[in-house]
This record gives sequence, C-alpha cells and structure tokens, in this order.
Amino acid sequence: MTKPVMISVSGIRGIVGAGLSPELLVNYASAVGTMYGKGKVMVGRDSRVTGEMVKSAVFSGLAAVGCDPVDLGVCSTPTVQVAVQESDAIGGIVITASHNPKEWNALKLLSEKGMFLNAEQGLKVKSIVENSQYNYQPWDGIGHASVYGNAIEDHLEAIFALPYLDVDTIRKRKFIVAYDCVNGAGGTILPQLLDYFGCETIPLNVEPTGIFAHTPEPRPENLMDLCQMVKGKGADIGFAVDPDVDRLAIVAETGEFIGEEYTVTLATQFVLSKKKGPVAVNLSTTRAVEDVAKALGCDVYRTKVGEIHVAQKMEETGCVIGGEGNGGVIAPEVHLGRDAPVGIALMLQYLVESGQSVSALWKALPQYTIIKEKIEIGQKDPDKILKQIETLHKNDSLNIIDGIKIDYEEGWVHIRKSNTEPIIRVMAEAKSQDKAKVLSDRFLSLIDRIEA
Ligand code: MG
Repeated sequence: MTKPVMISVSGIRGIVGAGLSPELLVNYASAVGTMYGKGKVMVGRDSRVTGEMVKSAVFSGLAAVGCDPVDLGVCSTPTVQVAVQESDAIGGIVITASHNPKEWNALKLLSEKGMFLNAEQGLKVKSIVENSQYNYQPWDGIGHASVYGNAIEDHLEAIFALPYLDVDTIRKRKFIVAYDCVNGAGGTILPQLLDYFGCETIPLNVEPTGIFAHTPEPRPENLMDLCQMVKGKGADIGFAVDPDVDRLAIVAETGEFIGEEYTVTLATQFVLSKKKGPVAVNLSTTRAVEDVAKALGCDVYRTKVGEIHVAQKMEETGCVIGGEGNGGVIAPEVHLGRDAPVGIALMLQYLVESGQSVSALWKALPQYTIIKEKIEIGQKDPDKILKQIETLHKNDSLNIIDGIKIDYEEGWVHIRKSNTEPIIRVMAEAKSQDKAKVLSDRFLSLIDRIEA
C-alpha cells in the first residue's frame, strides 16, 4: 500500500489531511531555505485546491530562514524552472504532485539553475529536517515575500525563440488542435501557446480548478474523450498534459493514442534532422530513440531514471535534445527540464515542415511495445536478487547504473527494486506485445525462483 507521506531525496509528497501536514511543509521549506542560503526563491503551484494552503506553509518556512519567496501564482513546473534560470533566484519550489490524483500534493525542489536538486542536495535537505538544523533568523533577518506576474509570458517567449521554429509557416497552416489539460496548470499556458501559433482549438478541461476531470496521468485509458474529440471534430492532432505540464502525450488525427514513448522519439527525429548532436534519455525509454538517432549518425546516452540525471547528462555532453519516455521532452535552448509546451511547439513545426500527418510520421518510426510489470518479493532481499540476475547474465550486454538493464537483439529488459515497497519492477520492450511479454515473463519467473 502507498504510504500517506513519502520523504525522499527528491522531496516530500503526500495526501493532504492524511499525512502531508502544514508542520511538515513548513519544516521542509525551512530546510530547503537553509540549504539555499539568503536570496530569492521562486515558488509556483499547479491548480490543486490545496495549493494555496501549501504555499502559505512554504512561504512561512522560507521567510523564517531568511529567504525571499517570490509568488509566481498558478503555473507549470517548466515555467518555474525557466523563472529560476532567467533570474538571480537561488532556487525554486514547485508545489505539485505531478500526475498524482487531486488529494495529493508535493514539493518539487529546484537548484539555482532551475534544475531539480541532485541526490546529494536532496540528502542534505532531508538531513536538515531529520536533525532540525534550521537556520532560523531573528526578527530583522526574516525574508520578504513578493509577487512576480510575468513568469508565464517569459516562459512562452523562451519557447518562441527556439531556433527550429518558423512561426509564420505554422500560422499559415491553421492547425486544428484538440487538447486536454485535465484542469491542471496547463490551462495557464497552452491556450496562449496555441493561439500564438494560429491554431483553431478544441479545448477540454482547460479551467485550472484542480478538480481533475479524469485520472490525471496522460495514459490512453484516461484520454478516451480526447481521442474521440480529435477524430470526431477532424483535428490535425491532440495533445494531453499532466497537471504540472512536464509530460506530453500525443493523439494522431485518426484518434489513435500514439503512446508517450513516441513524444520524445518524434522530438528527437525532428531536432536531429535540423541539428546533429548527442541525445540523452533514461534507461527505460524506448529503443526507437536509438534507432532514430543512429540512422542520423548521432549518439544516445542512457542515464538513471529521473529527470535530473537526464538533464545533467545533457549539460555535461552538450546534447541537442533529450528527455524521458513518459512524454518528457527537454530542449536545452529553453531549459534543462521536461517541458510539454516545448514538445508541442516542436511537434507543430515538424508537422508543417514534413507536410505529413501525425499517424504517417508515427508509423514511419520503428514500432516497439513496452510492458511494465511488478512482482512481490516479500522478505527476500532485493539487492541479492539483482546481484544474482547480474551474475547469471554476465555475458550479456548489461547496464547496472540503475537496477539492471539487459539489451538483446530483439529488445531489452530493465529490472529495478522499489525504494518504498517490497517489490521489483520489470519493464520489457520488444517489437511486439507478445515478444515483450515473453521477455518479461522470463524475468518475472526467474525473480520468483531466486532464493535470497
Ligand atoms: Mg508532471
């Protein structure tokens, strides 16, 4: 069972009223502020009903340790990332539980570059909370809150300045676009974005009320209305975003959900056709990205799972594009973070330039199916199980930076332990559902047989 509050190196997440309390939030914000030092901290929130309460706690915690919280209002996670990057802020906090249901909330923590905290910084925050080492200030050292009302416009400007875009051509094409914001923060940015590109729009769940119209994760089972709308109204494309607008899913003009893995694949194909360079994605992203990059003579770096690992690799190696298979596109010209509006802009440009439909572009890509399974391991030691799998497969093509990934000719399998539950997750990808299932079943039964 999922615990009501989870505290980890990536921050704090929980159900409001059942674990995620104001005390915890104040402490967490004070700890983050203690680590940041003195200066401005950009704070934005998605549309959740609890956002205002959480913001008050965060502001109090930050000001108590001498930080100056800046209120960006309701906006997307990438909007806050750009605001931190483009200002002299010493960090940022996004109040959002991302794709989790409406009763959840959480803090996403950003460094002075607008990137997520790395594991070391996350551990430091956690340790400050655990040891109550807050740098509380006397009355004349308390921080001052302010409001900045232009963060969304700044974010849009950064997107419009992407070197690949030819805005006039996109406008002339007069795309018909259906889009679903699930009543999250997408409603604060997608309407302006699509309007700028001269699109005729069919909006769904655009009011940022925080009362999510459906389960917010942008998965096909949650996007039936959007798929029907695209087909029924003759739209050129459909877009769906999660409540904090870092993940983007695409629906083809046929009403087919093309799968979140293909968002980053299409973005990679397009960007590499304009500019050659390395690409970074996490270990469990579709192999289609490699196939596409290889065909264009470009390298792909594989990183641990988690946006910060991809972002750091992109920074280190000068990647021209990157992201994650869950619909996360990262274009370094805007910022080093997953950004759904960036994905939309690239996709519209790709469509207009190629002169092809979404379904044609998608079907021309290498087709893979990923399946995700998990297995209960009870009292068994997950590390010992992983070690045994590693030993048994030492002659295969292994990557052990994050669990075990084994690459085969016909596909791959990625095996990771959970940090919160006694389970091991198995992801497998192959050219068909059946082949992926065979691969996945093979490892599920192996894990089951291992005594550890
Ligand atoms: Mg998200």
